[in-house]
Amino acid sequence: MSTLITNIAELMTQDVEHRVLKDAAVVIEGERISWLGPASAAPAADDAVDAGGRALLPGWVDSHTHLIFAGDRTAEFEARMAGESYSAGGIAVTVGATRGTSDYDLTRLALGRVAEAVSQGTTYLETKTGYGLDVENETRSARIASTVADEVTYLGAHLVPAGEDPDEYTDLVCGPMLAAVRPYVSWADVFCEQGAFNEEQSRRVLQACKDAGLGLRVHGNQLGEGPGVQLAVEFGAASVDHVNYLSRADVHALADTWSGWESAAGAGERGTVATCLPACDLSTRQPLAPGRELLDAGVPIALASNCNPGTSYTSSMAFCVTTAVLQMRLSIHEAVRAATYGGALALRRESGNDVDGERAVGSIAVGHRADLHLLNAPSATHLAYRPGIPLTHAVWRAGARAR
Ligand SMILES: [Zn+2]
Repeated sequence: MSTLITNIAELMTQDVEHRVLKDAAVVIEGERISWLGPASAAPAADDAVDAGGRALLPGWVDSHTHLIFAGDRTAEFEARMAGESYSAGGIAVTVGATRGTSDYDLTRLALGRVAEAVSQGTTYLETKTGYGLDVENETRSARIASTVADEVTYLGAHLVPAGEDPDEYTDLVCGPMLAAVRPYVSWADVFCEQGAFNEEQSRRVLQACKDAGLGLRVHGNQLGEGPGVQLAVEFGAASVDHVNYLSRADVHALADTWSGWESAAGAGERGTVATCLPACDLSTRQPLAPGRELLDAGVPIALASNCNPGTSYTSSMAFCVTTAVLQMRLSIHEAVRAATYGGALALRRESGNDVDGERAVGSIAVGHRADLHLLNAPSATHLAYRPGIPLTHAVWRAGARAR
């Protein structure tokens, strides 16, 4: 079964050549993209969709979410808007609510959040554990996450539960808890921050998870300068996320990880992506992450929603893109790239082909997964030009119409 999408006014591929085609068409065959080019040269297909002069982008790749939770933190949000500052301790409120919720309800809630994201153009997403914080509840969070998300990250090291010794809890995270979640996860993460896990504890978590064969990610440098970025670099993490407070040495260290990478060819050793979470920065009234400076220094960035009940209760990648353009001084092309290809790079899913079966996501090219987002606008510029307007017109996820 093949589908021709034609009459595309602007096709923003986000491929290795950064091509933007006008008057274009795309052909989907099964779950993959089989052709793209000028509409006038398009081959015949079983079915045809007239894009009506709209813009087509890759679907959003949301590389950082926390969707396995119950309850909400409206009261904490109100207090923050009234002037209280954010601290990591609010996570405990969600842990209590999550532990008291059945598997059925946790799954239903998470599926609802995924559906909300997909309806806004997200076609590939990561989610984390981290609201269980004991062996039983982290394991069921990981199991549920593996049924609702494309990529699952183990975040037992989200917060030390109240009343527990931090070093003993770190031992649990590195030992029995890791062993129990391991069948359900491919990534591990640690909240390396004042009030969460210190450098030594974070290092132990990263080492244990690396030894267990997991890819690594780090929550770092959110609330102040700290060791998060340097640890991510030291351990070869795929991504360090938040990155609000960076020293010059942090920026240089991240740039250095990409010295073996040929961005034009998409080849070579991948370094550590800096993942910016602008919706979280706004919701915590933190300074926005320095995305412009990171890009100028040669560090690839991702934009992600950080959808979670405490600090960023939105899955709107369009909102992140709008903010990145209006307030972080990215171009629309750079912002869309960070929210598609950048997210894929942060999950190491930006390459792959028919042969290895790990089909690439986050860009539009032959052989890549057919994850497409048709805007109700003639160009991607409208995402920033018309802030707050819901512009998702149609979504294909792995070749299937999802909206
Ligand atoms: Zn997070």
